Amino acid sequence: MAQIESGCAVLSQESRPRIAVLPELVKNQIAAGEVIERPASAVKELIENALDADARHIVIDLAEGGVSLVRVVDDGIGLQAAELELAFASHATSKLREVSDLDHIATLGFRGEALASIGSVARVRLLSRPRGSELGAEINNEGGRLTALREAGAREGTTIEVRDLFFNTPARRRFLKTPATELGRCLDVIQRLALANVGVGFVATHEGRRLFDVEASMDLRERVRRAFGAELAQALAPVDARDGSLSLTGFVAPPRLSRHDSGRQMWFLNGRPLRDKVLTRVLKDSYRGFLIEGRQPVAFLALSIDPAQVDVNVHPAKAEVRFRDERRMFGFLVHHLRQAVSTTDMSTPGGALLERAERRGDEALARTLVPAGTATLRWSTAQTGTDTAAEVPLVRDVIPLRSPAARHGATEPPVAPADAPVMQIARTFIVRALEDGFEILDQHALHERITFEGLKRDLESRHMETQRLLVPEVVDVSRVHVGLCVEHRQALERLGILVEPFGATSVAIHGLPARVKRADPAGLVRDVLELIEERGVAPTSEKVLEEVLHRAACRASVMAGDALTEDEMRALLAQGAGLESDQTCVHARPTRVRFTLADLEKAFHRR
Ligand code: ADP
Ligand code: MG
Repeated sequence: MAQIESGCAVLSQESRPRIAVLPELVKNQIAAGEVIERPASAVKELIENALDADARHIVIDLAEGGVSLVRVVDDGIGLQAAELELAFASHATSKLREVSDLDHIATLGFRGEALASIGSVARVRLLSRPRGSELGAEINNEGGRLTALREAGAREGTTIEVRDLFFNTPARRRFLKTPATELGRCLDVIQRLALANVGVGFVATHEGRRLFDVEASMDLRERVRRAFGAELAQALAPVDARDGSLSLTGFVAPPRLSRHDSGRQMWFLNGRPLRDKVLTRVLKDSYRGFLIEGRQPVAFLALSIDPAQVDVNVHPAKAEVRFRDERRMFGFLVHHLRQAVSTTDMSTPGGALLERAERRGDEALARTLVPAGTATLRWSTAQTGTDTAAEVPLVRDVIPLRSPAARHGATEPPVAPADAPVMQIARTFIVRALEDGFEILDQHALHERITFEGLKRDLESRHMETQRLLVPEVVDVSRVHVGLCVEHRQALERLGILVEPFGATSVAIHGLPARVKRADPAGLVRDVLELIEERGVAPTSEKVLEEVLHRAACRASVMAGDALTEDEMRALLAQGAGLESDQTCVHARPTRVRFTLADLEKAFHRR
């Protein structure tokens, strides 16, 4: 050092170096910014510690949204008195010894940062009595300053109290939202961890009021019911699949219960809730064709993987992971999830329509002064008016009086007896009797799905049969479209569409897919050309192909307004039943509304 100084005039001029190694406390406070952003992050870290300590029962008490108090009490293995001080040191952990341990991490924690971080930005009390030991001990950490260790009476397990979060880092405190918002985030964390850890009981309170609780013995469906209500819990369809060391269990919800946000899309990996782009895509693919654009599916899924097959050390909060064999996993997951989704009941429950009409009726009654005697009239068919079946599932706050699933106690849609009476209404709808109720089907929507699936099969098997028109149909189109016709002639041919330019602003249609018998050729070809123009790509990518088929199916399908004989209706229903799913049309709108006996009894005030 002295040698360098003497050899360098510039250095000797400087009185004090500008660079200095930060004191431990400042380091921890900075690290805390990554790990502890808000009360919910403390809740997460403390519950994870309890779970790592083999707790069977965890109590979480909060005050002021967690800002003034987060207390987590567990019945886990506890800490030895000699370990209490060390637990607050940074990079001090009992879960990892060397870098190679990272390859097979089976605990939720391993970075040894959480307690050090929390201790540096709050007033913390740590009290613990190891399992099987007579004595407990306690230590306090006031924003990084440890008090002396002392003996203390304690139950087996560990209690950590975190008070006045960010009391010594006011800048950070200012970023907190209202207590209600912070509380919401804490609750979200607690519920996710409770769903991820079947076998562990949880109780959460806020200022003495019980927020949420599950008993250790409750399974995943019961936990979902506690967190999100009976309607969702009952409508869930189970998934259970295995491939070597990889297993997938859990539930998917029917598309009609989808949401605007992905908040009820929960993945758990070996007990760790996580958000992961790949898994989000998996779900999107699994619901493709069943879900209206922009809606997010609801699902609760637990993955169990050999820890060596996944890297959890990608993110300080460990909410993201990296899978080693992503491709294979993707295929496996989508296959099994899609199967489960197609078994869910996708019909619009009649109960939802009734409830909605009833509510509207009440509002109408409140608005107009009606004679007292009519106030008991709560439901009339006129009030459903122009409500479309498609609108109903989008209404978030509608809870069916009794969903079909609730009645059957099963998640699969009821099957109609083969000889169930059918009738057509207004040349648009088909009504079919069920064992205990009836359903109304939209004939166009159903036929569209049938045609679409047929076209898709033809395309996949490269067996698109083309029917030549006896007389080519000439259609006026723009110059651009004539150009597109020439450019994409082969791709169109693969789709069974034969077109040739016919002058500068028209094309001649020579043939169409045989399956689209009733098509309006001009309309179909215009649709397809528009689509190619809009997308700016050849109609060869899977997505564009599907859209072309959508339009073809739509043009070719039984329209509202076609009279059908009983045989035709039965044939249509039978074709539908043979598909993977006939419960939604190709635009993912439901094809049917179903009324159960319970709905009817309710409508007639029999219950
Ligand atoms: P990490 O969980 O990454 O190891 P933490 O800072 O969260 O780091 O915890 C430090 C250590 O303190 C843990 O490794 C564990 O040994 C101990 N510890 C923390 N919380 C508990 C608890 N509730 N029960 C038993 N031991 C605990
Ligand atoms: Mg931890």
